[in-house]
Amino acid sequence: MRSAGHVVAVALDAVFSALEPGITTAELDDIARRKIRAEGAKPAFLGLYGFPGVACISLNAEIVHGIPGPRVVSDGDLVSVDCGAIVDGFYSDCARTAVVGEFADEESARLIDVCRESLKRGIAQCVPHNRVGDVSDAIEQYVRDAGFELVREYVGHGVGRALHEAPPVPNLGTPKTGPLLMEGMTIAIEPMIMTGSWETEVLDDGWTVVTSDGSISAHFEHTVAITADGPEILTQARQD
Ligand code: MG
Ligand code: MG
Repeated sequence: MRSAGHVVAVALDAVFSALEPGITTAELDDIARRKIRAEGAKPAFLGLYGFPGVACISLNAEIVHGIPGPRVVSDGDLVSVDCGAIVDGFYSDCARTAVVGEFADEESARLIDVCRESLKRGIAQCVPHNRVGDVSDAIEQYVRDAGFELVREYVGHGVGRALHEAPPVPNLGTPKTGPLLMEGMTIAIEPMIMTGSWETEVLDDGWTVVTSDGSISAHFEHTVAITADGPEILTQARQD
């Protein structure tokens, strides 16, 4: 799982290094595809439940599951890229959000910072004998204190020999409740947050999840191992 995590981290590094006004989401997807193949790994998302891309690429009011295609990204667009890789049958899952170009408006920059930090707060709870609710609550409280909302319908999850395994890892919860975290478990934690209402819709393409009110959204995700020494982030990139 460390190997699978490393592959997806370097793939996302390559995608975000290439992110600039004028590039299409299909070109970004192709960068992820080539990087994963070059590392000798397989893309985890391609064909899964019928998804047509290597990465889910979601812009602005799109939260998750955006399909890569001919769309061109522009200066100031919020771009979330979610990607997974398989090495020797083991899966990794990771997502990041960034603003295209040099200029990020204050709200976009703060949304990204809060989402990234909320993931760190959740990961810090990944110690043996804590519960999933401790992870969820840490994320929820941090995001609420910052004045943003969290997605209800889509959650983190166990990950290992499949992309999506038990237990679900919601982004809202109550401390000391839910499944027990034990040494050796590997989970994907993935806060998805927005500036407006938490309500979502799925577009007619059957995939793209958007905020109902058109407010912007950010998404960060890491695959994390729970060890006796505490959380180990398996999808950490060197430049994170
Ligand atoms: Mg993901
Ligand atoms: Mg995931």
